[in-house]
Amino acid sequence: MIAYIILIVVVGVLLLGVGGSMLLRPRGMHGVRRGRARELDLTGPLPKASDQNSPGTGTATATAPPTAAELLAPTAPAAPAAPPKPSLEKPPPSAGRMVRLRARLARSQSGFGTALLGLLSRDRLDDETWEEIEEVLITADVGVTPARQITSDLQTRVKVEGTRTPDDVRAMLRAELLSQVETEASRALRTQRHEGRPAVVLMVGVNGTGKTTTCGKLARALVGDGETVVLGAADTFRAAAADQLQTWGERVGAQTVRSDKEQADPASVAFDAVSVGIEQEVDVVLIDTAGRLHNKNDLMDELGKVKRVVEKRTTVDEVLLVLDATTGQNGLRQARVFAEVVDVTGIVLTKLDGTAKGGIVIAVQRELGVPVKLVGLGEGPDDLAPFDPVTFVDAILGG
Ligand code: GDP
Ligand code: GDP
Ligand code: MG
Repeated sequence: MIAYIILIVVVGVLLLGVGGSMLLRPRGMHGVRRGRARELDLTGPLPKASDQNSPGTGTATATAPPTAAELLAPTAPAAPAAPPKPSLEKPPPSAGRMVRLRARLARSQSGFGTALLGLLSRDRLDDETWEEIEEVLITADVGVTPARQITSDLQTRVKVEGTRTPDDVRAMLRAELLSQVETEASRALRTQRHEGRPAVVLMVGVNGTGKTTTCGKLARALVGDGETVVLGAADTFRAAAADQLQTWGERVGAQTVRSDKEQADPASVAFDAVSVGIEQEVDVVLIDTAGRLHNKNDLMDELGKVKRVVEKRTTVDEVLLVLDATTGQNGLRQARVFAEVVDVTGIVLTKLDGTAKGGIVIAVQRELGVPVKLVGLGEGPDDLAPFDPVTFVDAILGG
């Protein structure tokens, strides 16, 4: 008799749990792959791995609600079925983060700004010194043509201004670098809803540059700024990529739309993500893509299709090209290929914390004619900052 009562209580608790989780779902849950994404919340980041390892446990069995018989079976996992959801983090707003760059660069003490200040402060500025200045700039990834131009600009400034106190030299170099880094184009990210639809941001770039991390960090920053976000895991090449994105999303309460199967059509996932974003009336849909650069045609086919399919539902507001600042000339070559394939609207320069060669900011903006909009300053969740030229140049010059 007692066993019977316990059984009824256990079943009751389970049913309440299932009912409760359905009630707690946000409005408009009839979206395409939403159910799947939510169910993963309950099972944690593991199911994808088990999908791979044991073909017997397909997605259907893994996520199907338990039958009555299963619920009643003595082996049924009773209480621990729904572990408590991790509490949501409240990320800080994005403003003011750029100053952290100064600390990161100061640590390395090898910034090219310091080297330039030293050279420009020499008593005699002979040809050899000017050559050294040009070389420092080239070594810092500024690019050959801009390095020449900066050097000749500096020569002119020295002639015109005459005196060279340390303060003068610094002010002169600061003005010159600023003029190289500043652009006409706005660095603002278009992440506002328009015409009753969410803004859509596509993250593109070569593997390992930091696309997924940047999607995650950006989602956090947007949530910190009070916006709502849906993530689209359109890098369907590896299941782990979707898990990685989803983990970022879960920490700040942003839903990740992903495919049930590996190697799914990235365009289809992007379409679903945008559809969920429209339905749920969020502010921004961030779409992570794969960056396999087999050849330009593959890339063009894949990214072109993602964009085209998204545009069936709304506009793509930003195409952000993610570049690893530590890859120098190689990174620039990649940038060129992507720029030929998609209309890049902004550059995200990651791993700026890992290089003293910030000159790539100048080189890539010049190469693509598009501003650097965001910079990655480390692996921490809030190490993504809106790019600010003044803070950047001051950081290069050692504060
Ligand atoms: P295709 O595969 O070259 O024919 O490319 P499509 O432009 O037809 O779309 C690619 C993917 O995006 C499809 O497999 C769908 O998953 C998704 N898609 C595109 N348009 C629609 C649509 O109108 N409705 C839905 N549900 N999905 C769409
Ligand atoms: P994806 O292949 O383009 O999606 O690249 P991931 O987002 O997976 O990132 C690749 C690696 O770069 C990861 O280990 C990230 O933690 C790291 N990473 C990304 N952005 C930054 C950054 O700004 N600074 C540093 N130091 N590491 C970063
Ligand atoms: Mg990735």
